[in-house]
Amino acid sequence: MTILSSSTGADYRPATAAAVAALADAGVPVHLPGTEAYTALTGTSNLTKAISPVAVVPVRDTADVTGTVRVAASAGLRVAVQSTGHGATETMHDSILVSTAALDELTVHPDERWARIGAGVRWAAVLEACAPYGLAGLAGSSPDVGVVGYLTGGGLGPVARSHGLASDTVRAFEVVTGDGVARRVTATHHPELFWGLRGGKGTLGIVTAVEIDLVEQPELYAGALWFAGADAPAVVRTWSRWCEVLPEEGTTSIAVMRLPDLPFVPEPLRGVTSVSVRFAWTGDPAVGEEMVRAIRSVAAPLIDTVQVIPYAALGAVHTDPTDPMPLHEHHSLLDAFPLEAADRLLELVGPDAPCAQAMVEVRQLGGKVLDDRGVPSAFPHRDAAFSLFTIGVMVPEVAQVVTQDTARVHEGLAPWTREGGLPNFTDGAGPQWAQRVLTPAVARRLQTLSMVYDPDAVLLAARGIRG
Ligand SMILES: Cc1cc2nc3c(=O)[nH]c(=O)nc-3n(C[C@H](O)[C@H](O)[C@H](O)COP(=O)(O)OP(=O)(O)OC[C@H]3O[C@@H](n4cnc5c(N)ncnc54)[C@H](O)[C@@H]3O)c2cc1C
Repeated sequence: MTILSSSTGADYRPATAAAVAALADAGVPVHLPGTEAYTALTGTSNLTKAISPVAVVPVRDTADVTGTVRVAASAGLRVAVQSTGHGATETMHDSILVSTAALDELTVHPDERWARIGAGVRWAAVLEACAPYGLAGLAGSSPDVGVVGYLTGGGLGPVARSHGLASDTVRAFEVVTGDGVARRVTATHHPELFWGLRGGKGTLGIVTAVEIDLVEQPELYAGALWFAGADAPAVVRTWSRWCEVLPEEGTTSIAVMRLPDLPFVPEPLRGVTSVSVRFAWTGDPAVGEEMVRAIRSVAAPLIDTVQVIPYAALGAVHTDPTDPMPLHEHHSLLDAFPLEAADRLLELVGPDAPCAQAMVEVRQLGGKVLDDRGVPSAFPHRDAAFSLFTIGVMVPEVAQVVTQDTARVHEGLAPWTREGGLPNFTDGAGPQWAQRVLTPAVARRLQTLSMVYDPDAVLLAARGIRG
């Protein structure tokens, strides 16, 4: 086999040419810039995060990954990895991109309650495959997200307070480290890599498959309550008090939304400010209904979708859009969200505030998120109480305003924020990302592991911790 697709106009430097020739000689598929396949495999869902690797390798198996890493190392190139493009952060201009999208292996073992999942699989497929057995994987708010990208960043989903972090359910990774060696990693086999792959994102290797424990959760009492902007003060203040008493069977977030006046938005939410309380209850639905009464009784909801749903319909809680859009995202951690913080949030982003964010979300953490099941991981800031996440739409006319407004909102809540960020929610790459997300102790340990398992710093994601 030779190069699958190439374009004469491509940026074709000598190192790239040597690497591409070596890959093609070894029978590894390669696509170069300017080709249809390259364009399809380099798509990103945030249009401000375009990527331009020197070539894309759509890997078919572990051997393609080891081959790519070794060839890149000898050519002095780096290797990046992507499955869906939902979490792109780097431009990848000096890297070969390993696309794992075709690694679609998925086997559920219902009797022993675990699943083996290829690195190209999205959560939607796992939820569907587990549903007939009443079993569940701990997916995030959007089932469109890739399982491995999510798990390597911890994975904090709509039932996180009840069932914990998704990365704590990992039994094993199959991974190609930066030295080009394929390894099986568990709590007892390469435990140091097992620690670092859960929270360290792609800094230590390219995962080809993962094995996770499943939980018994056929159904949930879950959905969202949408309120008019005029009711925001009462809803946000009540939510702040409610979080203080919500048992860990309940996971919740609140989002102040400014949705566009477009047909895909439900009529009462179009072009106005609204507030959405997201809620997922893993216990007895009757008790969940009792719990949510505190929110339901604050005001008449515009939309109320909270009901018993199959676990596989988990995406209905947040209803995240996944179509490509130009976005500016930012995240902070909060130590608390008392009434004073609720009032400050309302001043900053409530219906009367000149706010340029499409969404400002506060997610309650705590509960089982705090429990690492006795197997520590590199996931940092487990003890944060709330996450603050903002999304603004970067259309050219308002792009600068959106960026300034993001700072205004996060700085405005400074009395309750703390240092750091969660791996999956923190935008950026390289040293800037590592400094924000990793505690000094975690960063040092990842750096040492990286020097052992990736001596030539071939993995692009290692850039942030190698200095
Ligand atoms: C709509 C939406 C909702 C989300 N909701 C949540 C949520 O509720 N909770 C949460 O925790 N996160 C959430 N996220 C963040 C998401 O988990 C991360 O962006 C994640 O990295 C996406 O993984 P991906 O494979 O889909 O993306 P990709 O762009 O394919 O990958 C992103 C990154 O994941 C890592 N990665 C991917 N594949 C591999 C691999 N094979 N080996 C090693 N590293 C790899 C790399 O660092 C890569 O750069 C959400 C994201 C979106 C877009």
